[in-house]
Amino acid sequence: MNRDLRKTVIAGNWKMNMLASDVETFASGLTSLISGFKSWCDVVICTPFVNLPAAAEAFKGSDVGVGAQNMSQFESGAYTGEVSTAQLSDVGTEYVIIGHSERRQYFGETDKSVNEKLVACLKSPLVPIVCVGETLSERETGITFDLVAMQVKAALFSVSASDMRRTIIAYEPVWAIGTGKTATPEDAQEVCKAIRKVIEGLYDKATADAVTIQYGGSMNDKNAKELLAQPDIDGGLIGGASLKPDSFAVIVNAANQ
Ligand code: PEP
Repeated sequence: MNRDLRKTVIAGNWKMNMLASDVETFASGLTSLISGFKSWCDVVICTPFVNLPAAAEAFKGSDVGVGAQNMSQFESGAYTGEVSTAQLSDVGTEYVIIGHSERRQYFGETDKSVNEKLVACLKSPLVPIVCVGETLSERETGITFDLVAMQVKAALFSVSASDMRRTIIAYEPVWAIGTGKTATPEDAQEVCKAIRKVIEGLYDKATADAVTIQYGGSMNDKNAKELLAQPDIDGGLIGGASLKPDSFAVIVNAANQ
C-alpha cells in the first residue's frame, strides 16, 4: 500500500451467498468492529443484485460502500435478465465488479465484454473494480505477466487517463480464488507491480501511481497483513472471508499499517 499516492480499498464479494434478511445483522456486526476505518481505507461489500437495496439501507451512514458483482454494458432496453448502471445507482450502489473470473469462466465474459462494461460503467457514477488474473495452467506455462498485461490493456481500451484514476484493478490469480491457495505476498506484489507498469505505459507514471490495485484469491484474516504490506497491493477483493463480520473486520483492520 502507499496511502500517500492512492486509496486502499477492501472489498467483499459475497458471490451468490446471503439473503436480504442476513444483511442487517452482518452490517451491524461489521461496523461495530471497524471503527475509524475511513482514516486508512475504503470498505465495500458487493452483494447479489437482489440484496443491494437492503445493503444500501443497512450500511446507510456507516461509510461502508455497497457494490454489485456485475452490470450490463447496455443502457436500457430488451436485454432480459440484465441490470443497467442506472438501475444499480438508483438503489444506492456505488461500486461494481467487472470481469470476475467466475463470470469469464461460467458466463462467457470476454476481454471485449469486460471493456464494453468498463466503458459503460465509466459513463455512470459507479466505481469499477476490474478483475484480471491467470489460470494455473497459464501460470505453469510461464505466461502470467503477458496474459495479465493483455487483459489489462484490453479492459482499458479507449479509457481516458482521468477515468483510469477512478478505476480499481483487482489482480486475482484464478487458481487462488476459493481454493484456500494464496499467492505468496512476493508473487502477488510482482504481478501488481507489473500491472502498474502496464498502466504507466498506457498513460503516465502519475496516473499509474494513483491507481488502486487490489489482490484477490483466498485473502483471509491470517494472510491479509502481509499481503497488504506490499507496496503495490492497495487492498483486497475478498470472497469467502467476507461472509463473516469477524474475519472481514480483521482484514479491514489489517489495512491499518
Ligand atoms: C473473489 O471472490 O474474488 C475471491 C477472491 O474469492 P476468495 O477470497 O474466496 O478466494
